[in-house]
Amino acid sequence: MIHVLDTLQLGRPGIIAATALETDQGIALFDTGPESTFDNIAAELARIGARSEEMRHVFLSHIHFDHAGAAWRFAELGATVYVHPRGARHLIDPAKLVESATRIFGDDMQQLWGRISPVPKDRIQVLEDRDIVRVGGIEIRAIATPGHASHHHVYHWDDTVFGGDIAGVRLGSGPPIPPFVPPELHVESWHESLEKIEGLQPARLYLPHFGLVAGSVSTHLEAVDARVRDWAAWFRDRLCRGEDEAQLIPAFAAHEASELRAGGATADGVADYEAADPSYMAVTAAARYWSKYHPKEIGGHAAH
Ligand SMILES: [Zn+2]
Repeated sequence: MIHVLDTLQLGRPGIIAATALETDQGIALFDTGPESTFDNIAAELARIGARSEEMRHVFLSHIHFDHAGAAWRFAELGATVYVHPRGARHLIDPAKLVESATRIFGDDMQQLWGRISPVPKDRIQVLEDRDIVRVGGIEIRAIATPGHASHHHVYHWDDTVFGGDIAGVRLGSGPPIPPFVPPELHVESWHESLEKIEGLQPARLYLPHFGLVAGSVSTHLEAVDARVRDWAAWFRDRLCRGEDEAQLIPAFAAHEASELRAGGATADGVADYEAADPSYMAVTAAARYWSKYHPKEIGGHAAH
């Protein structure tokens, strides 16, 4: 039995989820949501008859605050936190993570993410690609899936995948989109990671943003993959023309909004996507990706 727990981030339902898998040895939690919504997740756990104090297994897709911000709270209560090797040191010492997030979110840090504290080293268990953790009768396998972040895992058990952010953001009646965020966006890796997930042939895919994917998982993954390519090319063409971030931010917001509406999102839905995955982040992410990995393709113009 799998439960999608709503963090109600900033009072909005359906934006950021934690996902709970019931086993015969208690709940395994996949992502925690931000620290600011810890009490909401505690209430959601109570709704399914569990308590945060009982949580022993917390699997992180990656360490961005909307996914892992509350991990230290669960660790404090005795949970083991599972994470990709490249994510572990930022959980133990979040200073760099805070610094880079502050560059993006500025004064909104506290309101968005709440308190940030280290996870004690002895509460962390690093998982390499394809490592397995047994919880009760269930074998949960980590699959290294870079592209959105270099330290990203999805988790696979039975016919189910917990997809993290590499598997896309899909809210309400809207289409799937790839969350492009700095500083580790890598388009080629994203494609390979989606192929890895596809290769698992999962019947069910759960997303942190948001919940169970309705319909065919492979159709969903193909749509994410196509949009990774399309958006990367959209940015390449404009960077090549020498457009800077000040021009690209409103242009991409409009481009994304029109794709979301064409894909079935309502006006409120477009605002929800902005809340889950602000469009301006894609601009910095894509500019950095092109100038770092393919500077010649953008004619040597680097946005920063
Ligand atoms: Zn996210």
